Amino acid sequence: MIYFIDGHFTRRDELRISIDDRGYYFGDGVYEVIKVYNDELFTLKEHFQRLFASAAKIKMTIPFSEQQLIDVAKELIKVNKISNGHIYMQVTRGSSPRTHHFPDPAVSAVVTAYAVEAERPVEDMENGVAVKSVDDIRWLRCDIKSLNLLGSVLAKQEAREAGCPEAILHRDGVVTEGSSTNMFGIKDGVVYTHPVSNLILEGITRHVVLDLCKDLEIPVVEEAFTLDEAFEMDEFFYTSTTAEVMPVTAIDGIAIGNGKRGRLTKKLQDAFSAKIPSPLKGSI
Ligand code: PMP
Repeated sequence: MIYFIDGHFTRRDELRISIDDRGYYFGDGVYEVIKVYNDELFTLKEHFQRLFASAAKIKMTIPFSEQQLIDVAKELIKVNKISNGHIYMQVTRGSSPRTHHFPDPAVSAVVTAYAVEAERPVEDMENGVAVKSVDDIRWLRCDIKSLNLLGSVLAKQEAREAGCPEAILHRDGVVTEGSSTNMFGIKDGVVYTHPVSNLILEGITRHVVLDLCKDLEIPVVEEAFTLDEAFEMDEFFYTSTTAEVMPVTAIDGIAIGNGKRGRLTKKLQDAFSAKIPSPLKGSI
């Protein structure tokens, strides 16, 4: 397996990582996960734009251009022969003896990236999954795709211990998003989701799905809803780069709608699949 680290392509067993990397000490960095379908990166421009936007929000300069990083991602897919899977890329504020403030003088940010083969979660996409509600204890800059993921890690673990693959997060009963996904409810044919703000990550898949709603003439209301309202939805689903459009059939053990994948959710999944670079592997 070939990785990209600190400007070089390197074999995994030859990787050298600095103990002083601020990623270790502080989670001081940002990252992206980009899906590969049939040898092609999906919505790559959007992901790289968000990577640079996240870096700017933490006042960090990425020592490569967007095009250079796109070339790195494409090279990783090629040399590792990844057809369907994803790219992981992170940028940390660099390597420097531990001080909370930024290194002074500044050091170069470190880009690390790899590519892995991964199947689409087709079974869950057909059958739907259950989620568990968890208090959203994260910080107030969830719009930054930061490496600091402890709030999400704890939420995901709590859900997992309840037998659920995802947590539905809420602040004082108001649903924000998932631990690594955006949440959507459907009531009387209208799709509801939390508006873009500092309280959620502006998901790339969220955007794709909202565009699909427009194409399919499904009305959308970008307004926060409560957990109590979530239980009353006819359909529910979440989105992310790896989960795509994932039906939610139960929240906290209570069935949503008829407890099966909803009709509009399926319609959105089909429209999403049609957007993926073909030929489709593992179509649903
Ligand atoms: N919210 C959070 C907190 C996430 O971590 C993610 C996935 N990284 C998402 C939403 C979904 O974003 P995307 O569709 O860009 O994968």
